[in-house]
Amino acid sequence: MDRLTSGTDVEKVIVTADQITARLIEIARQVEKDYEGRELLLIGILKGAVMTMADFSRALNRHVEMDWMAVSSYGSGTKSSGVVRILKDLDRDITGKNVLIVEDIVDTGLTLAWLKSNLESRGTNSVEILTMLRKPEAAKVEVDVKYVGFDIPTEFVIGYGLDFNEKYRNLDFIGVLAKHMYS
Ligand code: IMP
Ligand code: MG
Repeated sequence: MDRLTSGTDVEKVIVTADQITARLIEIARQVEKDYEGRELLLIGILKGAVMTMADFSRALNRHVEMDWMAVSSYGSGTKSSGVVRILKDLDRDITGKNVLIVEDIVDTGLTLAWLKSNLESRGTNSVEILTMLRKPEAAKVEVDVKYVGFDIPTEFVIGYGLDFNEKYRNLDFIGVLAKHMYS
């Protein structure tokens, strides 16, 4: 498969490294247009969005500020509960800022719906969302995602920031985790 996988833990590649690069460049051109003449603050959601934030921000031909948040959306189980805990908050006040949340994946959308309204309640000028991946389930909640890298099927994926038990985040592509890995 590649240098990090034996070929049995990834069932199939769904987005290649080249596809990620190309898509981020397209989105960067769009964001440059949409925010022309306005300041922009990127807020990356740790840890999954690290790769997207690093590559997207470098694709942008403009100045941006960057900050990070860490949130936990899961209780003890593996299903999103909608109950979000802030593990690491922003370093600074965001009153009046144009915020673009940078996420790895929108699954149920519960985490982002909560996060968006949390940031809006802080007196921001605007809050939009960029996500590398979106699963169909996400359509079920009222969360408006402005920039989507790729819509993918409802399958557990790893790589490019996304983990399974904290592993595989450093794959440069996105793949479906083989079922035998978690059964
Ligand atoms: P939700 O949108 O509230 O359901 O939660 C999304 C979060 O769940 C993401 O930020 C990921 O951390 C995690 N997640 C959802 N689907 C996957 C996946 O397929 N692989 C790895 N993590 C996932
Ligand atoms: Mg995440």
